[in-house]
Amino acid sequence: MTHLSDAIAQKRDDLVALTQDLIRIPTLNPPGQDYRAICEYLDRRLKAHGFETELIRAHGTPGDSAKYPRWNIVARRSGTHKGDCVHFNSHTDVVEVGHGWTTDPFGAELKDGKIYGRGACDMKGGLAASIIAAEAFIETHPEFAGAIEISGTADEESGGYGGVAYLAEKGYFDPARVQHVIIPEPLNKDRICLGHRGGWWAEIETKGEIAHGSMPFLGDCAVRHMGAVLSEFESKLFPAMASRTTDMPVVPEGARSSTMNINSIHGGQRENDADFDGLPAHCVPDSCRIVIDRRFLVEEPLDQVRDEVTALLEGLRTSRADFEYVLTELNSVLPSMTDRDAPVVQTVARAIQDVMGKAPQYVASPGTYDQKHIDRIGKLKNCIAYGPGVLELAHKPDEWIGVEDMIDSAKVMGAALETLLLPKN
Ligand SMILES: [Zn+2]
Repeated sequence: MTHLSDAIAQKRDDLVALTQDLIRIPTLNPPGQDYRAICEYLDRRLKAHGFETELIRAHGTPGDSAKYPRWNIVARRSGTHKGDCVHFNSHTDVVEVGHGWTTDPFGAELKDGKIYGRGACDMKGGLAASIIAAEAFIETHPEFAGAIEISGTADEESGGYGGVAYLAEKGYFDPARVQHVIIPEPLNKDRICLGHRGGWWAEIETKGEIAHGSMPFLGDCAVRHMGAVLSEFESKLFPAMASRTTDMPVVPEGARSSTMNINSIHGGQRENDADFDGLPAHCVPDSCRIVIDRRFLVEEPLDQVRDEVTALLEGLRTSRADFEYVLTELNSVLPSMTDRDAPVVQTVARAIQDVMGKAPQYVASPGTYDQKHIDRIGKLKNCIAYGPGVLELAHKPDEWIGVEDMIDSAKVMGAALETLLLPKN
């Protein structure tokens, strides 16, 4: 075992206490509460270890208000001579608690080597591991090149606009400032996540004409028009998406082709309120709306994704009498995929081999995370997700992080820092 691995193992109690402290700050998003509190906590912690810190509020981003300000922290510790900067980025927000917990979601109970709580695995455990790795590295190697940065950012769970996207716009991920980014999301300690699929979200409305339900021929049923849309999706779009393959090593494997979810469908008269038990009136619906969630591959340009759906709708406009629709784009995110030969990938791969004695597995994520902003806005390609925790536990009741897993991944992060920041002689 190396000197640094030893130093990390000896910080076990500190790592547990740090993780527990972070979980006990209930940074729920929505609404995005206690961002300031967690930034102040990290500020005290990192300043005490020689970092220079900046607290940055993402003014004017979605959800930012006097009551729920979007606070972020960027901490930097410069080495003794010139070199690359390695940046660890963690989101500080957690999703709602939900039902089914048998432990206090913000109690951070330690039991049988696991710490329980909302955000334990996604991703306060990863944040704590990266802090311990950086602190142990600095103590072990007071003379290092370049710089280490640690950021705690807001709103990843709601798109990252008040967090990493904002910082990227302000230049914090400029390749002149930062050269390597590791995002300690819970991808399992022996896997390297190279990127994620893209997403395109849209609402489609079909139009009709209201009339008495006993004489539907006097109106035009928007729900039947939507039925035609769904039938086009079933017979053409879904088979086409399923037939596409990708070089992205997406896990689970079901997400290794294009997918689409239909999030919702609404048409005709509103559903009754729970306290109303009257009968419905008889009307032909004049509007029907669906929201689609289309996830796409790095091989598919966004225009093609958009055009494919539009072409089906335009086809119906010519083939189907009185077919009218409105397509409203809600949001889009481009896929991101870091090259396997990128320095941060190669470095972490070797570190996993050294620390855990096995070759890493390369994966990509079915859903998006903050890498998109670092890639697209920051123009920084040398970025991966690597961190402790079992991905499948994220957002679930009784979420936990294993202490041993945090220590192992901290050792990997530390070994990566040694490769990237120690002067080569
Ligand atoms: Zn996460």
